[in-house]
Amino acid sequence: MDKNNFIFSSAQLKDYLTSKGIDTEKAFLENHTEPAKFFTLIPKYYLNLINWYDPADPLRQMAVASSLEDTIYDYELQDPIGDHSHEPVPGIIHRYPDRCLLMLTNVCAIHCRFCFRKNLLTENKAMYEQAMEYIKRTADLWEVIFSGGDPFMLTDYFLNQVMNRLDSFDHIRIIRFHTRTPAVFPRRITDKFIRNIRSRKQIIVVIHINHPREITPEFIRSLRLLKKAKVMLLSQTVLLKGVNDNTEILAELFKELVAVGVKPYYLHHLDPAAGTHYFRISVEEGKKIYQRLRGTISGHCIPEYVIDSPGGHGKIPVMWFERMSENEYEAVNFEGKKIRYTDYC
Ligand code: SF4
Repeated sequence: MDKNNFIFSSAQLKDYLTSKGIDTEKAFLENHTEPAKFFTLIPKYYLNLINWYDPADPLRQMAVASSLEDTIYDYELQDPIGDHSHEPVPGIIHRYPDRCLLMLTNVCAIHCRFCFRKNLLTENKAMYEQAMEYIKRTADLWEVIFSGGDPFMLTDYFLNQVMNRLDSFDHIRIIRFHTRTPAVFPRRITDKFIRNIRSRKQIIVVIHINHPREITPEFIRSLRLLKKAKVMLLSQTVLLKGVNDNTEILAELFKELVAVGVKPYYLHHLDPAAGTHYFRISVEEGKKIYQRLRGTISGHCIPEYVIDSPGGHGKIPVMWFERMSENEYEAVNFEGKKIRYTDYC
């Protein structure tokens, strides 16, 4: 991947904006210090979508590091959705019986400031051979979900190798990718890339996209290429304070996605990852925003609003949670277990 397409520090950000004729004195850069842990990584393409004279620009909030990240509350977790309790071999997260996550890369096209896997993106978890052997011998698996990091940032050569290997496992019928790349660095999707992900299995691509301004002509072009590979396109969105925490923005996002051929699949309540508190809204606020979507947009435009329960108990629809006290909620997960959830807002 050509490093010239990205910036890696606040100093590079300032230089890049200056080269683009942005008056950095007026661009509110003073809050954007170098983060202590999760380093800056932003594609120049994405920088060009930001209005630098608006300190509250939602795309800027998602991409540019803030000094607020360095405050970490006790309730914020290193492993917020309990990945490690379902890791039979390095590189595999096997939470549900018939599907597993395959995490072969800790590289992303962007470092989202609210990321729930910040902990993994600072260490290398790629263990290709062990992961492949696990998938091969686990006959109950029906679907393999590439996650990461961002699997669309694997090199073409390696991606092709992995796809060929998965193609040879008869019990695997579905290969799913979770990726933010089409929304933040769409030029990665090329004809060559499409040739490498072609498979005799059904491929599903779940695009992580959070704001209607991420739907650009380049994004739509990348979808056209993905459709050439007969890919089923879904989306997932994280509900984020100051970015998309209102019904109108979400309605616009979901309608536009459907209009360009992407079915909204999940709306995630923010996971309690370290240093992400300034993006968090309460469960009650989230429910209100979500309820108003019904009746505002067609049912087929509405994703499922879920909480990935801490402790590794899986995704649970937010509407299933019953409020037990001011901040305590309870719901039953897919295994019939009673799960408690504390809302720290
Ligand atoms: S692309 Fe996904 S995994 Fe990578 S930083 Fe963003 S949210 Fe995290």
